[in-house]
Amino acid sequence: MKYTGTVIQILSNIVIVDISSINEKIKATIKGNIKNKSNILVGDIVEVEKSYDTYIISKVCDRKNYFIRPPVANIDNLIICVSLIDPKPDYLLLDKQIIFCLKKGITPIICLNKVDRVNDKEELKTEVEYLKNVYGKENDIKVILTSAKENIGIDELKEVLKAKISAFSGNSGVGKSSLTSKIMGDTNIEIGEISKKNKRGKNTTKDVKLYSIDSNTYILDTPGFSSYELYDIEYKELRKYYNDFLKFKCIYEDCTHVNEKECVVKQAVLQNKIDSERYERYKYIYLELFEKDKRKYK
Ligand code: GDP
Ligand code: ZN
Repeated sequence: MKYTGTVIQILSNIVIVDISSINEKIKATIKGNIKNKSNILVGDIVEVEKSYDTYIISKVCDRKNYFIRPPVANIDNLIICVSLIDPKPDYLLLDKQIIFCLKKGITPIICLNKVDRVNDKEELKTEVEYLKNVYGKENDIKVILTSAKENIGIDELKEVLKAKISAFSGNSGVGKSSLTSKIMGDTNIEIGEISKKNKRGKNTTKDVKLYSIDSNTYILDTPGFSSYELYDIEYKELRKYYNDFLKFKCIYEDCTHVNEKECVVKQAVLQNKIDSERYERYKYIYLELFEKDKRKYK
């Protein structure tokens, strides 16, 4: 018998594979000939052969993406969590996370948590509108408003997770653990155990694990996606990841929108057709990448 499944955990010699079609999580070993060719990662889609009572992984399917830290493959969604207040949204980090997603073929989804506190201050309403406009409308990114505390938006969040592998990211304190335990319901005990382990400083990368929350639906529990650098993005390609800029056609096709005198994007900023703060953050990230590139050749 042959099955297709998703690798959800890797122990030293055994790989745990979730086979949705038979609703079973099985323990498999790896066939000798693939062992050397490619490493198996959590998130890999594999073919498994059953003979008598043992399962052997005979093939690792092509990956849509993969990461070294954390060591995972085939991430579909990144749920970028920000909170309305305590802490306030970090837009520079948000922009960087979106760029990272678009580069890696991941769908970014913004989850604005703690919306139950919208009435704390008048300015918080502006924050919600800003996210919905600049990211939702201008960049076609789904913005889901949630409250883990008041159970708001959890179903909408569950909806985008369906039949996908999703990771959560965001600054500490925004409510990632609260949201994931809401989603996982009864199985949240395990998440607690994992976090405890991480805090004690064990080898966190080895602890990467997918939680199956529904048929073919997984969430990754690792803080690894929260802090990273845009290590493999060239300053020249940065502009490609700005949906809100792309509809403005500059004279030069490879216009960076930074130093060029006649730039349609810059004009659009002046005319308030592009959010000026978003553009300022673009310039900041551009210069960061540019400096990094210069150092490379020193
Ligand atoms: P994490 O560091 O991102 O995992 O954040 P936690 O889930 O640990 O939450 C940080 C703090 O925010 C905790 O005190 C939570 O009780 C609180 N919190 C989380 N979600 C909400 C929410 O939707 N509304 C409010 N008011 N507080 C929340
Ligand atoms: Zn331009």
